[in-house]
Amino acid sequence: MQEPFLIRLPWGEDLLHAMTAVFKERAIPKAAFNVIGALRGCVLGYYDALTRQYVRREFTDHLEIVSCMGNVSERDGGIFVHAHIVIAGADFVCYGGHLMNGSRIFAAEMYVTPLPGQVPVRSYDELTGLQLWPQEKA
Ligand code: ZN
Repeated sequence: MQEPFLIRLPWGEDLLHAMTAVFKERAIPKAAFNVIGALRGCVLGYYDALTRQYVRREFTDHLEIVSCMGNVSERDGGIFVHAHIVIAGADFVCYGGHLMNGSRIFAAEMYVTPLPGQVPVRSYDELTGLQLWPQEKA
């Protein structure tokens, strides 16, 4: 298993895509990570449990990545990154949600902790309508 590492993600790239590329290129199927930095626009998602759809909200400003954290597991036979993010603009007001495609990196520093053991596999969950890990037996 690989040691924890720090990596700078490339300017101008899509944040979610760039993070996924790191895990695929280094063949890391299970990990936890966090990212700080700044974005040139961001797309947040909010999962509406009634409609079972993600509501999207796009921000076009220059934004601080106050916090971004997530995990890596398996979905549809491949490496899947799930990330949530809190952003702040010039007024210091924070917005947060599920990180969607369409967030452009200005600067991004990622800390990755590869994890040992069996990789959780996501599958459709009837109760939530989401692709989730198997639930532990109580
Ligand atoms: Zn999410």
